[in-house]
Amino acid sequence: MSLLTVEDLVVDHRTPGRPAVRAVAGASLAVEAGEVVGLVGESGCGKSTLARAICGLAPTSGGKIAFEGGNVTRLGLRRRDAGLMKIQMVFQDPYASLNPRRRIGAQIADGLETARDRETTPGGMLERVGLPGAMAERYPHEFSGGQRQRIAIARALAARPSLLIGDEPISALDASAQAQVATLMRNLAVESGAGLLFISHDLSVVRLIADRIAVMYLGKIVETGPTAEVWENPRHPYTQALLRAIPEPDGLGTLPAELPGDVPDPADPPQGCRFHPRCPMAMDVCAEKEPAPGPVSCWLHQQP
Ligand code: SF4
Repeated sequence: MSLLTVEDLVVDHRTPGRPAVRAVAGASLAVEAGEVVGLVGESGCGKSTLARAICGLAPTSGGKIAFEGGNVTRLGLRRRDAGLMKIQMVFQDPYASLNPRRRIGAQIADGLETARDRETTPGGMLERVGLPGAMAERYPHEFSGGQRQRIAIARALAARPSLLIGDEPISALDASAQAQVATLMRNLAVESGAGLLFISHDLSVVRLIADRIAVMYLGKIVETGPTAEVWENPRHPYTQALLRAIPEPDGLGTLPAELPGDVPDPADPPQGCRFHPRCPMAMDVCAEKEPAPGPVSCWLHQQP
């Protein structure tokens, strides 16, 4: 049994007076204990909404989320279930997720309290993320962005999560801090036996830390597989385009702001394969019928 299984999940964004936007349109994903899964895709593809739904922070319209064997799909969930405290999230902006008026030690202590951990101290947690324990007495504004993200990781891990989710946790950091923080998240999650779902548009970092990659396009997972396999032999044309568009000659780098072609409006997605208006390999069937979900959701790899 997987630690986390997401099956055919649907999440709609509803704004009064506007048509609903299907941000997640039937996505499936699994994370095992001790495994790091990198979720990649252009901005606006639904990665963050998927993460919020897993945490119970976004109401779902369909599909299923199973965490530690229990069904956590809740329609219109307002408060986080106590069981969901075993899922902790680290956000893009660590300053926004830390309370500026409380000492960081007190904020980390909240996590320890959740886990009923009376032995570990906030200073001990800071040391695990590479900061001096004495810094527990300080306030968030006294730290750099990279240090604040380490504090956010310490706070999340203090609650002893089974699943840690990083939602673009390194995109606000200096280049020098990005790989360090990502590697730290990986090491601490794996050491503690937790799974890590790492969402990023930085393919080089995902390649560095993830055991498996899931590629998302317009609300759907279009390709999944072991990181080395997907990197060496991307099979979905969208994954191929993402990897081709990386400018650095060593094959490392971040996703481009835009691939060729217009990104379709998620409120009015194309019929058939959602990537067909931008796909250089598109065939007649692609505009008519949607390929089935699977390791590679593409008619080039399925029988129409
Ligand atoms: Fe391209 Fe067709 Fe495959 Fe979609 S199904 S990615 S349009 S070849």
